[in-house]
Amino acid sequence: LFITLEGGDGSGKSTQAAELETWLREQGREVVRTREPGGTEVGVEIREIVLHHRGDIAPRAEALLYAADRAHHIASKVRPALERGAVVLQDRYIDSSVAYQGAGRDLGMDEIRDLSMWATGGLMPDLTVLLDLDEDAARLRLDSARTRFDRLEAEASSFHRRVRQVYLELAQAEPGRFLVLDATDAVATLAESIRSRVAALL
Ligand code: C5P
Repeated sequence: LFITLEGGDGSGKSTQAAELETWLREQGREVVRTREPGGTEVGVEIREIVLHHRGDIAPRAEALLYAADRAHHIASKVRPALERGAVVLQDRYIDSSVAYQGAGRDLGMDEIRDLSMWATGGLMPDLTVLLDLDEDAARLRLDSARTRFDRLEAEASSFHRRVRQVYLELAQAEPGRFLVLDATDAVATLAESIRSRVAALL
């Protein structure tokens, strides 16, 4: 079972991934919790390049680096885990690329999707949880401990508005794959909604 979590910075993806991981382990499932970019050793290095040069890297180069991270991550970690029956809980996947590189950076959304499908051999999640957070709430949540890049991006509000809008459009286009939740709901409420959807897939 392949589950991805999507949403803007500060939407609570890691908290919900941790909650879900605990519950799945209680159900006796093997869980592999991972993320993109940076879910492998190679990926950590790619993540550093992408995040350090954010803002001055050519958009197509950035998209290819994310795709390279993903290709390696899926081939070396995610597919083997799925093949042995583990549940993979992944922070960010194809929808992040379509939203951030495809829309945020003005590359074509279809091209970015095709690139990602090529990189992964067409692996799609069984379930994608979208933690939807409006811009003002997102800004309030980002605390000073996060990186300078996050804060700069938080200030680029039209970028975030566009990313959020694309996420919602993607969810609307594939209602069977997506569970869209309001990220301002209580942690326990969100966790319960996610658990009941996942329980139906186990
Ligand atoms: O969620 P995480 O902190 O790992 O993401 C790091 C940053 O990388 C995010 O702020 C997001 O803006 C960016 N990102 C991106 N395109 C992706 C994945 C992440 O621009 N495909």
